[in-house]
Amino acid sequence: MTAPLAILHDTFGFAAFRGVQEKVIDRVMAGRHTLAVMPTGAGKSLCYQVPALARTGTAIVISPLIALMHDQIRAAEGFGLRAAALTSADANREETIARLRAGELDLLYAAPERASGDGFQSLLARVPIALFAIDEAHCVSEWGHDFRPDYRLLRPLLDSRPKVPRLALTATADHHTRADILKQLGIPDDGLIVAGFDRPNIRYAISPRTNGPKQIAELIAAQPGPGIVYAPTRNAVEKLVEKLGARGRPVRAYHAGLDPDTRRRNQAAFVESEDMVIVATVAFGMGIDKPDVRFVAHAGIPKSIEAYYQETGRAGRDGDPAVAHLFWGASDFALARQRIGEVEDSRQAGERARLDALARLVETPGCRRAILLRHFGEDPPERCGNCDNCLSAPDVIDATELARKLLSAVYRTGQSFGVGHLEKVLTGGSDERVEKLGHDRLSVFGIVGADEARLIRPVARALQARGSLAATEHGGMKLAGDAREILKGEKGLEIVAPPPRGRRRRAERTD
Ligand code: ADP
Ligand code: ZN
Repeated sequence: MTAPLAILHDTFGFAAFRGVQEKVIDRVMAGRHTLAVMPTGAGKSLCYQVPALARTGTAIVISPLIALMHDQIRAAEGFGLRAAALTSADANREETIARLRAGELDLLYAAPERASGDGFQSLLARVPIALFAIDEAHCVSEWGHDFRPDYRLLRPLLDSRPKVPRLALTATADHHTRADILKQLGIPDDGLIVAGFDRPNIRYAISPRTNGPKQIAELIAAQPGPGIVYAPTRNAVEKLVEKLGARGRPVRAYHAGLDPDTRRRNQAAFVESEDMVIVATVAFGMGIDKPDVRFVAHAGIPKSIEAYYQETGRAGRDGDPAVAHLFWGASDFALARQRIGEVEDSRQAGERARLDALARLVETPGCRRAILLRHFGEDPPERCGNCDNCLSAPDVIDATELARKLLSAVYRTGQSFGVGHLEKVLTGGSDERVEKLGHDRLSVFGIVGADEARLIRPVARALQARGSLAATEHGGMKLAGDAREILKGEKGLEIVAPPPRGRRRRAERTD
């Protein structure tokens, strides 16, 4: 048995362990079950590769995607490890089984569907096993953002070899998900090891979207170096490419609708480039290793804080300053909340909590980094000095009264109109439709003065983000969440003050 440090030097050619790697490896070497939560790029693979070599037997690695397994095998073989996978895509099944039985494999990869089957358990019966590594372990939890029921079925396999240490690994797990992973995989609470999540060189900024393409073009103009712009749909990607392409920087698209060849070419060109902007759906970025990405922009909200952290984390891997700028609209939240209604009941609470956390991040007048790091269980300072709100503290307005007026107007007009109509009613504008509907005779008609009128849309946006207003099927708004508590004066609403009127060239749209 060779010591971990000797393996790190001799096999991998690295000088020292990074961050929590040593702590994780020591624990696995001692034969104890462990959950390692480490951000992308922190070096999770090494945490099971080193014990795989240092301990007797083969390491069984559970991984959710065949493409991911093949990447890992290629990387491991690059270091001289003996690795193979048992999947439907691997034709050398007999050979792999023979190598496993002969003790000639350091790593054997399998998907949870296969690993949880009886056949797999009996295949391993007389084979020495160094450890079980469960990669992307958040898939075991319904709270996680990527639940895979087959992960739940791994327990009998793990329990059939109680002395073999289990190492669960994930980059993205909030409190709930972590607790769930520990329970589901039978790892004791003291087996949780969490790496530092801070990326101090990334400057976080988050703004309401007033004119998305223009805001992103301005960001790009101010930001030399390669960058990624995430857009929510293929269509949005294509439109942005068109608008941004006219401005001098090389711009390319990346989404699942492009043929594989074009996708590969665009990705390769981006990896090579020193000034390219790639506009992409979230399909882009997994497994790309480009250390000098100088900015990541989001043209709409990501799926969760975890996704935001992961996507923005592709900026500034080289440690030099980088920028992450998210542009959000009320419609993003409205759509996301609508979609929650369509998922299985058992998952709705988790999805809703994830969206609420994201809403708090975009709406906070406080430090963005503090919210992110607290989300990952850390105890950061109140202010980081390197996010939009720390660099220039926004004014906060108590908008409770206006929120009540707006919610009341939503209610009295029958919970089916959009913000444009409500704005006309509240400000008492003469309008044919308002009169035809008799909305000029409502008690809420004209109750908002000219000075407050410009806050109606920011308030509507804040209420939509936090779920107090929900979208109707026809693009209107209805009361939801804690709207009644706000109406009754039991809850207040503070919003970040919008920039003064003079600085805005066109009327703000919700979108
Ligand atoms: P993760 O799976 O956590 O995203 P990887 O395991 O892919 O990260 O590792 C990221 C990169 O860091 C890889 O290129 C890996 O070889 C490298 N790496 C990991 N540990 C070390 C270390 N101790 N010293 C130097 N490089 C390391
Ligand atoms: Zn900050």
